[in-house]
Amino acid sequence: MLDVKELTMSFGGFRAVDHCSFSVDAGTITGLVGPNGAGKTTLFNLIAGAFQPSSGTIRFQGEDVTKLSTDELFHRGLVRTFQIPHEFHRLSTLENLMLVPPKQSGESLLSNWLRFGAVRAQEEVVRQRAMETLEFLELTHVATERAGNLSGGQKKLLELGRTMMTDAKLVLLDEPAAGVNRTLLRKLEEKIQILNQERGYTFILIEHDMEMIEKLCDPVICMAEGQVLISGDFQTVRSDPRVLEAYLGE
Ligand code: ADP
Repeated sequence: MLDVKELTMSFGGFRAVDHCSFSVDAGTITGLVGPNGAGKTTLFNLIAGAFQPSSGTIRFQGEDVTKLSTDELFHRGLVRTFQIPHEFHRLSTLENLMLVPPKQSGESLLSNWLRFGAVRAQEEVVRQRAMETLEFLELTHVATERAGNLSGGQKKLLELGRTMMTDAKLVLLDEPAAGVNRTLLRKLEEKIQILNQERGYTFILIEHDMEMIEKLCDPVICMAEGQVLISGDFQTVRSDPRVLEAYLGE
């Protein structure tokens, strides 16, 4: 699904991502781990089209997408989750889902509806989908709550919900466990697993919570100094002495 080759990104003279190569199979949940400063976030920014690499290529579903913008990638189903933007904190949970721009099937549906002037009907379709998403995430009880008032875990579930409004194929999750209490963490893990196994989503997630990585991810890729140090199943990666060394040098 994703093929990254010799990707390099420099800040000034410093290579944050340094000839990094790996691939991600459709249907997997790939964990991206590594010490602080390893280049994980920069790599996510490159894959999502927020940064342009100095060199190297990114292929998504067989096509070269190296030079595509975040917007173009989003339309192809490659989505990176972000915290709910500040200005959306005052909107309700439901409204936050309804505001996700339509794409793919949704987009043609939208233009069809607009052509016939049936904007209200379209709004109803989006509302229905947003309600189903809330139900799946078990957030129906906070549908009318301001997003800014949600707990850390509920906000992460809402972020996941926003990707569900887009027919995403590959979702990049940046530290989904950060700031989430244990109960909601289990729920978040369960929802990610269902989206992966039953709804065909492929995920790459950056995470420091090793319990979550062990539970969800196969394979796990460990980065250090801008490169892939090792990839494999959780136990293989965890027991590799180079990984321990990389974390000790943090
Ligand atoms: P990680 O997410 O693994 O902690 P990052 O991708 O955030 O790593 O950072 C990799 C390296 O690139 C770090 O040394 C960081 O200081 C540097 N870096 C990241 N972003 C910038 C930037 N905008 N300008 C300069 N250096 C940066």
